[in-house]
Amino acid sequence: MNEATQTAANEKASPPTRTHAARAYAAASPSAALTAATIQRREPGPEDVWIEILYCGVCHSDLHQVRNEWVAAMPTVYPCVPGHEIVGRVQRVGSAVTKFKPGDLAAVGCMVDSDRVCPECRAGLEQYCPSVTLTYNFPDKHLGGVTYGGYSESIVVDQRFVLRVPANLPPAGAAPLLCAGITTYSPMRHWGIGKDKKVGIAGLGGLGHMGVKFAHALGAHVVVFSTSPGKKEDARRLGADAVVITRDADEMRKHAGSFDFILDTISADHDLNAYLTLLRRDGNLTLVGAPEKPLAVSAFSLIPGRRHLSGSQIGGIRETQEMLDFCGQHNLVCDVEVIPIQKINEAYERLLRSDVKYRFSIDMASLR
Ligand code: NAP
Ligand code: ZN
Repeated sequence: MNEATQTAANEKASPPTRTHAARAYAAASPSAALTAATIQRREPGPEDVWIEILYCGVCHSDLHQVRNEWVAAMPTVYPCVPGHEIVGRVQRVGSAVTKFKPGDLAAVGCMVDSDRVCPECRAGLEQYCPSVTLTYNFPDKHLGGVTYGGYSESIVVDQRFVLRVPANLPPAGAAPLLCAGITTYSPMRHWGIGKDKKVGIAGLGGLGHMGVKFAHALGAHVVVFSTSPGKKEDARRLGADAVVITRDADEMRKHAGSFDFILDTISADHDLNAYLTLLRRDGNLTLVGAPEKPLAVSAFSLIPGRRHLSGSQIGGIRETQEMLDFCGQHNLVCDVEVIPIQKINEAYERLLRSDVKYRFSIDMASLR
């Protein structure tokens, strides 16, 4: 076979994926502002769901990745279209889609695919699949390049990675459940949080405020650790039984050795040892916050009391649906400040000042 015939044969075997243009917001470099861009989305295949995006939450991970702060673990490929807290309306479905029909409310979180056969996938823990495809900044199997996230008017996703949104949840507040919600719900379920447990939530931002709501709904005694005195009243309204402003060393000491579980959602450098020593014997601190720089741990924060330090990454698809249904039953959504996409750069600056109550949710109508 000559080269031309070979090329023709290959094209016949796998025709190039057809695409359509979609409006989006993208960053061109770590120091560039996000600006309007046009991206390509694939035409839906048999298993795909085409979603018109209504709202997309703004996660601190978006900011870390746009600015390439996770360069060692996950270097950012530019242009970068972030966004993994997506709620929208189904526009079209492929011929084999059974879970959704046009007009349905649907959601997409941090993952859009995985290998589906590894032990993690078989256990419903796709977030730990070695071949997971995250919603943005991950190799795109269909189009080449990297995946583009939810700061966009639409997205096309395999039905297995699309979630159902309970009808009683307002979409702007439901969108951030797809990351802030599942990331706090999953470790609490894993570590058996419920009645008679004393739970600490470190950092009252997007993740932290959902951590408070879930811990309270699960029946735990909840203490918030915050650097922001102005958030004290809110913390109580959200479900905290007590609030500690962390710069008050006496207040911190009062809780020494008393916690069953602490969820650390802090996005910046901080002293982990100050929280580890608050754990009781066999207590556990789970890190979900992912600061740019490594955190120092003293052996003496863990050894006395046989304490655990662990991590947790979002949650699997099955558990994400369970979390959404739990929110539907308990009428839980995120407290959001709805912004137009044109305010996104200002929103990032406010995130860095811990000035958000408690999640920005982008109204995608502003992009159209
Ligand atoms: P966020 O809304 O910005 O909240 C972070 C909170 O941390 C702030 O509101 C602030 O709370 C506290 N904080 C900030 N700087 C601090 C400092 N220097 N010292 C102590 N506390 C500080 O961020 P987010 O969206 O909730 O995300 C939090 C972290 O989780 C990020 O690193 C993000 O990348 C990570 N994340 C991880 C996963 C996962 O799967 N593991 C998923 C999503 C996000 P106070 O004002 O109350 O002090
Ligand atoms: Zn996130």
